[in-house]
Amino acid sequence: MSRNRAAVIGGGIIGLAVARELLHRMGGVQVTVFEKEARVAAHQTGHNSGVVHTGLYYQPGSLKARLCRRGVTLLRQYAQDKDVAYEECGKLVIARDASEVPRMAAIYDRAVANGVPNARVVDGSEIAEIEPHARGVAAVYSPSTAIIDYVAVAEALAADVAAAGGRVLLGREVLSLDGRSTESVVTTRDGSEAFDVVITCAGLQSDRVALMSGEPRSPRVVPFFGDYFLLEPERSSLVKGLIYPVPDPRYPFLGVHLTKRVDGRIMLGPNAFLSLGREAYARRGWSASDVASSVGFPGFWRFALRNASAAAREARTVLSTGAFVKEAQKYVPEVRRIDVTRGPRGIRAQAMNADGSLEDDFVITGAGGVVHVRNAPSPGATSSLAIAEHVVTKVLERRSG
Ligand SMILES: Cc1cc2nc3c(=O)[nH]c(=O)nc-3n(C[C@H](O)[C@H](O)[C@H](O)COP(=O)(O)OP(=O)(O)OC[C@H]3O[C@@H](n4cnc5c(N)ncnc54)[C@H](O)[C@@H]3O)c2cc1C
Repeated sequence: MSRNRAAVIGGGIIGLAVARELLHRMGGVQVTVFEKEARVAAHQTGHNSGVVHTGLYYQPGSLKARLCRRGVTLLRQYAQDKDVAYEECGKLVIARDASEVPRMAAIYDRAVANGVPNARVVDGSEIAEIEPHARGVAAVYSPSTAIIDYVAVAEALAADVAAAGGRVLLGREVLSLDGRSTESVVTTRDGSEAFDVVITCAGLQSDRVALMSGEPRSPRVVPFFGDYFLLEPERSSLVKGLIYPVPDPRYPFLGVHLTKRVDGRIMLGPNAFLSLGREAYARRGWSASDVASSVGFPGFWRFALRNASAAAREARTVLSTGAFVKEAQKYVPEVRRIDVTRGPRGIRAQAMNADGSLEDDFVITGAGGVVHVRNAPSPGATSSLAIAEHVVTKVLERRSG
């Protein structure tokens, strides 16, 4: 019997990167990717800000900090090899007044600890040189922060998997995963198949897929949507790169920011609010089972109680375009309500613990022949090739151990 059958559940950027890495590093392996949608990158990978983060914010030594830095190196090279657009447009994390300067300085310290290249602190006049329409007293400037098309990356990864003899099966939802000591059985509507190694990268469904193989239900995925607005093309000159707020520890997510896309359009957002469906991209979309999953989870109520003021801030930007634009005007005052149109919505798969805390780091668990990527929020796309290296190293260690 072959001992080299690997399944990957999820055809987002991480699942596809893992599949490609398995084919590179495990001689003779047969790899099958199961993706429930009719195309790759249908969820988070295709609904994000498109930023290649350099590692400014993350706790030094954390998986996020390490895999983000390694991920940038791998992704930049991959984009070059595959002719995927990659632009180092630079990022400013702007302190609007003196009260924000100490927190901005702490970000700079983390950038240094994480080895972010050429990050530096700039004053108000340098902010004006880098982003002539932005306002602030000081900023951390990261010139190598970049933008990319993550859907194009995912498609290139899928093509690599196919070219190396792997199968990417679209429209194949995994309904059950029976993880056993020697082999695991993956079942879809088309039947069951046994594998020696299974790696789950199911994003918004990651807790449900982990549960299938007997993993604990916690951390639970609680979905938070983020709406974007687009600046009218003739106003794109207001923003040259990426303009971010200094994170406020009272709020679990970054506030509205301004980001350039590889097609030159400028996006405002995303905000962050509880989503009534894990895959509900329409404004009034919802799913009864997803709502029940969030509100039936005691951790959610603990989180909600602690974050009432954050929810109030975000609710304003959900209900009113004017309030949304006001958030952006704090950094670029010339942006006007008439300059924006509603853009896409993304939904974050945020893992939450039973005590209501959000899992900050990437979470990778599992036993025997099964590995679960349970939490891979931003900078998960930036880090995808490095997460794949990390996961496959885990698989190889287990097999040799
Ligand atoms: C609004 C927003 C902005 C972001 N901005 C950035 C950014 O600028 N830079 C950055 O680095 N990161 C960013 N991220 C994070 C980044 O998008 C994610 O970290 C990354 O896309 C995760 O990839 P993934 O493959 O794990 O998940 P996904 O892309 O969500 O893929 C998971 C796949 O699993 C499939 N699946 C689920 N269940 C099953 C099943 N039972 N059977 C078969 N298939 C299944 C799904 O259909 C899906 O295609 C952002 C995320 C959001 C939501």
